[in-house]
Amino acid sequence: MTHILHRHCRESLPTVDTGEGVYLIDTKGKRYLDACGGAAVSCLGHNHPDVISAIQRQAERIPFAHTGFFTSQPAEQLADKLIELSPASLSHAYFVSGGSEAVESALKLARQYWIEREQPKRTHFIGRRQSYHGNTLGALGVGGNQWRRATFAPLLAPSSFIDPCYFYRNAMPEETRIEYGERAAQALEEEILRLGPESVVGFVAETFVGATAGVLPPENGYFRRVREICDHYDILLILDEVMCGTGRTGTFFAFEQEGIVPDIVALAKGLAAGYQPIGAVLLNKHIYHAINDGSGFFQHGHTFLAHPIACAAANATLDVLASGLLDEVSDKGKSFYQRLVEAFGDHQHVGDIRGRGLFWGLELVADKASKMPFKPATQLHKRIKHIAMQQGLMCYPMAGTIDGQQGHHILLAPPFIINEEEIQHLAERLTRSVNEAIA
Ligand code: PMP
Repeated sequence: MTHILHRHCRESLPTVDTGEGVYLIDTKGKRYLDACGGAAVSCLGHNHPDVISAIQRQAERIPFAHTGFFTSQPAEQLADKLIELSPASLSHAYFVSGGSEAVESALKLARQYWIEREQPKRTHFIGRRQSYHGNTLGALGVGGNQWRRATFAPLLAPSSFIDPCYFYRNAMPEETRIEYGERAAQALEEEILRLGPESVVGFVAETFVGATAGVLPPENGYFRRVREICDHYDILLILDEVMCGTGRTGTFFAFEQEGIVPDIVALAKGLAAGYQPIGAVLLNKHIYHAINDGSGFFQHGHTFLAHPIACAAANATLDVLASGLLDEVSDKGKSFYQRLVEAFGDHQHVGDIRGRGLFWGLELVADKASKMPFKPATQLHKRIKHIAMQQGLMCYPMAGTIDGQQGHHILLAPPFIINEEEIQHLAERLTRSVNEAIA
């Protein structure tokens, strides 16, 4: 009898014991190849000596000091490192304990920014349908995933939603990708005008959609147009890079590949590679100055803000990434994609293989020609997960609503330290798991 409230209450899970490189090992000694980093978290694998010793050193020096009384060296260093990695307009960092807290903090920063600028009527956020930005009530409020919202409606943040940018399913006949991207961005302008710009706080989006809607890279030009629209109407652009940031798509920030800079960006998951819970919000200097020169007080905060051990783990993670590992993500990603194409390119139930860097989605469909959702859809993701775990593979199959249809995809986000042989094993185990689940 366990007294933990597990997320999937009735599922019985193996008990993890240790980790070694890209493997997790349970208490019975069974090894699981990590194909998803949990949920795009474990970018350095499971026993990285540098991060472990950074945590030990910090625990021995000072594990916790309340931010109402002290700043700490690890927190100051982490802010310096992140700002150094950021474009010049992002000037300050705020540290919390995870992705939902990072998004929540971003929303409150954005709200307070407009209060400081004496525009208190700006209370409305625009998000995208099917999106997920976290499970706290505010973050859930800007998430457009109906299933997640339903139990907790009415939520806290007044929000409305436009379609995500998804050429593959949403494009009109004859439309090019560029035209589609422009049209998808245009929906933001229409929504701003419908609401009245004077009531809008900002637009919230994942730069590169992760789990919920099935790993969707943005169309080329989409975010440039979004940025122009936000600038034109003086709307804040808030990017959620909780999953796609910290190197996952091949650059430290996914937005670097879009040629834009957001006003606020949220990071988490890979920031301390799973060795400690941490999230970060980076903000534009205008937002910082509005608050600092205005009330001088960000009306937000948690006890474990800028936790010294978490910041020390993040510093060590960033050092490992900077020592050459981040530069390997793009090339490894190409070979990862090649293996997926070899394994699933002709698979009649795989509709699309999409992604960038070491962030990939495998879409499961009824058949390649119609690309209709796999039928019977129920529980396919659970079956794949179960069989994969039996095969010694941890991947992240999900049921998501795409273009109004219930669809399935598998999120693949392995540790950046994965090697060729491990990629090969991963592809083999995944093929067996998918085939067995579908049979
Ligand atoms: N935003 C995105 C894009 C996410 O994928 C997640 C987590 N899956 C969150 C926010 C919330 O992060 P956390 O679970 O750490 O609260």
